Amino acid sequence: MTNVPYTNLNKLFIDGQWVSTGDFEPVLNPSTEEIVGLAPCGTISHAAAAISAARKAFDEGPWPRLTQLERTTIMRRMHAAIESRAAQIHALELATVGVSQFIGSTLAWTTPLDHMRNACDRSLLPTLRHLPIETTPNLMNPSAGMQIGGGVVVRDPVGVVVGITGFNAPIVLNLSKIVPALLMGNTLVLKPSPYTPFQALLFGEIAEEIGLPPGVLNIVTGSADVGQLLTSDPQVDMVTFTGSDKVGAAIMGQAASTLKRVHMELGGKSALIVRADADVQKAAMDGLANIGILCGQGCALATRHLVHNSIRPAYIEMLKAMSPMMKVGNPALDPSVMVGPLIREAQRASVERYVQSGRDAGAKVVLGGGRPAGLEKGFFHELTLFDDVDNSMKIAQEEIFGPVGCVIGFDSDDEAIKIANDTRYGLMGAIHSGDAHKGYEMALRVRSGGLFLNGGAGKMQDAPFGGIKRSGFGREYGDRWLEEYTQEKTICFPIGR
Ligand code: NAD
Repeated sequence: MTNVPYTNLNKLFIDGQWVSTGDFEPVLNPSTEEIVGLAPCGTISHAAAAISAARKAFDEGPWPRLTQLERTTIMRRMHAAIESRAAQIHALELATVGVSQFIGSTLAWTTPLDHMRNACDRSLLPTLRHLPIETTPNLMNPSAGMQIGGGVVVRDPVGVVVGITGFNAPIVLNLSKIVPALLMGNTLVLKPSPYTPFQALLFGEIAEEIGLPPGVLNIVTGSADVGQLLTSDPQVDMVTFTGSDKVGAAIMGQAASTLKRVHMELGGKSALIVRADADVQKAAMDGLANIGILCGQGCALATRHLVHNSIRPAYIEMLKAMSPMMKVGNPALDPSVMVGPLIREAQRASVERYVQSGRDAGAKVVLGGGRPAGLEKGFFHELTLFDDVDNSMKIAQEEIFGPVGCVIGFDSDDEAIKIANDTRYGLMGAIHSGDAHKGYEMALRVRSGGLFLNGGAGKMQDAPFGGIKRSGFGREYGDRWLEEYTQEKTICFPIGR
């Protein structure tokens, strides 16, 4: 086994204690297929213990009762503790996710930490709302005449939150649950993907270091049975999930009988629209990045490239010409690698089935299409682009979660919008247009949770993120992120007597 940071974490973190499971599961490096560590396997009894600990910490512990400043101060210590582990966490991400060094130090690192800092700042903004003072009849005693009434609306934490996350950007996803839940005074049970357990367990070490009270943050591993208990137990008040739409739908069913609040961040099949007047080079670069980042394992990537038929050949030639910039390989060994592996052999087999289904349906492979030469070990796949795709094909409708893009031609803006919206998903999207005004008008008509016009505006700290349709509901980041983890309580009182 290799010496990867945090892969020695072989216990669960429940009620402030490290708990042995007695059962372990190998975690692989997808670039080499080597075992990097043995992760503890959580069971439903561990999940039950974690829920009880979180319940007790919420009902009886200090955490929800601290002042906001006290909680935020502790969460700022968590931010510093994460930052101080930058090198080790990068090494873990490279070894277990196969993220490129570039994305590992930007989108998957500074972005979530900046969101965390922003959330800490925002948590200190006043949230109490005053209701207008009114002269009202006394409802309990109408003959008593009128009274003056007033009130306030305060925000309470929701209670015990369960956070369940996928594998593709584990630090980002785990922080997207930990930060708002804890800042707002909830307690949390976090369950990561079995592919990336150490990116959650390391928060146990951080919780100890910063002095989080026991039971505030509990970390259990496990598969669907553990997830099932966590999302159906009556002691849990809210489930926040990032993963596939299929599992998201199952979780909504599991959470329904106890009427939990649910927050869903799910998959996508976003459209990148390239108008006839677009800068073809910029659009093709964007298209290429949307195929290659995280080896296509990104929810928000735009993998349907809707290109005006007049420039479709030029777009494809440009994207192909630039494709060597997205070098495929083991990112831990080479900082110039931009595309790492797929997470497991099963994921690569699934991608290969999609590529075959595209060929069978009559689409034409114009780039890649198979396994890259010279990479015998590791779950690698070539960047792949299909042309002559019809939007009804499986490769255009289903989330492949691999480095595969589909080019679909169109002849008018209306047609492009129709195709863009003809999907069960609605997460993100992109438009390239020489006429910014026309592009903006189209952006207003695309049904998605967000959209980048002409490449977007760089890092926007306050931009909310989330989907519609089968991409989920609820928003992360921005001004509503913290609110999602609170509930309003109205307190009314008479004034003047
Ligand atoms: P997945 O849905 O297979 O698994 C996600 C988590 O759910 C894992 O921890 C898994 O163990 C758990 N799980 C499985 N069955 C469960 C059940 N019945 N009850 C409770 N938990 C259960 O997702 P994945 O393959 O790990 O991640 C990829 C998916 O996540 C893609 O669809 C991607 O688009 C999506 N994603 C969405 C966002 C977003 O913010 N919208 C971000 C990242 C990834």
